[in-house]
Amino acid sequence: MASATLDRFCQKVCQIIQSEGTACFTLGAADNRLYLQSFVDLSTKTTLEPGPQEDIDNNTELTQAVVEAIEAERSIILDEPLHLSGIELGGPVMVVPVIWEREAVEPEEEPAKHPVGILTLWGKRGGLTFDDEDQQLAGVLAQQAAALLVEEHLEEFEDIQTAFAAVPVGLMLIDSDGNIAVANAAAGEVLQVNTLQGSNLRQVDSQGQLQKLISQLQPGTQTQATGAFVSPLGETYATSVQLTHEGQSILAFTRSPFSTAAEELVGQVAHELRTPLTVIQGNLQTIQAIMGEEVTKEDLQIADEFIETALIQSSRMFRLISETLNISRIHAGKEIELDITEFDLIEALDQILTELADRLAGHQLVRQTPATLTMQGDRDKVISILDNYLKNAAKYSNPGTTITVSIQDQGDEVVIAVRDEGIGIPPEDIHRIGKEPGFRTSASKEQAGGIGLGMVYVRRVTEAHGGRMEIESKLGEGSVFRSILPKYQPSSRVPTEELESI
Ligand code: ADP
Repeated sequence: MASATLDRFCQKVCQIIQSEGTACFTLGAADNRLYLQSFVDLSTKTTLEPGPQEDIDNNTELTQAVVEAIEAERSIILDEPLHLSGIELGGPVMVVPVIWEREAVEPEEEPAKHPVGILTLWGKRGGLTFDDEDQQLAGVLAQQAAALLVEEHLEEFEDIQTAFAAVPVGLMLIDSDGNIAVANAAAGEVLQVNTLQGSNLRQVDSQGQLQKLISQLQPGTQTQATGAFVSPLGETYATSVQLTHEGQSILAFTRSPFSTAAEELVGQVAHELRTPLTVIQGNLQTIQAIMGEEVTKEDLQIADEFIETALIQSSRMFRLISETLNISRIHAGKEIELDITEFDLIEALDQILTELADRLAGHQLVRQTPATLTMQGDRDKVISILDNYLKNAAKYSNPGTTITVSIQDQGDEVVIAVRDEGIGIPPEDIHRIGKEPGFRTSASKEQAGGIGLGMVYVRRVTEAHGGRMEIESKLGEGSVFRSILPKYQPSSRVPTEELESI
């Protein structure tokens, strides 16, 4: 679970509290062990591999301090050094409980508090001891740590949800006269009928959508058919029907790929938004805590850095929200609207690479770009193209492999390309990517978190600019995704200064 985000977080903690080192542990609920997640020691540069450490029940200095800190819900300071996996953490040592507060569901309910881990800080620089202000700051930072740790756990939950979404929801067995012999409760919900069994299809399928589907079946020649069914509640289901040897039809409803994907999108967006929001909130709290009575020049410098990251993350949030709104526009059959300006594509690339730094940290990133490249287009949407290509390249390839992002100036056209050395795409699937909402290759389904909408959006955005999308891939070797965009937009799309000033 160790992540580059946690490592960076621990480095920041050292910087803010002026400690020689910081480590972050989670608390194994099942085995009562401390699991090291991240370890940063600035003075000795020692490293420790993440993994299981002390058992809380073993009475060591560390576990005693941990138990006391968690029970008292406040940090504990030890003047003596501590030992961890044979390494001495020089005194004084501060042990800070990391407590995650789950929001109350009912109005009068108290928010539930779960100890999820601890932060350990050691060696105050300048030979000093940790004071009240340090303890207060560490408390704020521990809240950030809680959000980071819980965030990682949430990803596991989401995998499970994705798996459930793929289960067909409704099943019916219908005889040759249209009588419903068997139906499950989910089918009843789809059709909005309490008891389906014993009814005739004519009674429950007033628009004739299912009857039309079944009428396509011919014994011996066509025993299967698929179509869409719009339920009385206006939801779309993918419907398949199969003819049995006895002349009965088995009807199965699944949520249509777009509806399923759109529903998952809500979950994914909420999840994606949580990361920038956590950073923004945490940074603001930290700035507030730093701006105590005496503000030093160094405090201002740190605050400035925190503001900068908060601004980057807030622009990411705006883009993710507009991407979601645009996907729902596509779903509703509307065109994407572009907000064309002139901008430097290389600056835009720098911005997205900063935003995605954590996700790309495990890969070798190679950049092949000119120093500047001015183009006309919708800057945010062009960033979304890069965002989606880069996220996929990282998601569908192993850490340590190379991701190459290149931007080429070809006169009237600009080529944006992202190459990876990942799982690749079977040749027969390439043409479906970006065209069929919800489509995912079978290899990619092992990867959590995919819903098959990003490439649909990228293709639409590319084409709305008058460009084209190209995919080259070899199964098991890697892929290249390209958007070839015109450098200039028809003049009617570009706002001129005169027009703007009217
Ligand atoms: P998602 O990644 O959320 O499933 P996308 O629309 O971004 O959705 O991609 C659609 C599908 O295309 C993915 O599920 C995957 O099967 C395939 N795909 C996209 N990018 C890559 C890549 N870089 N390598 C291999 N397969 C990819």
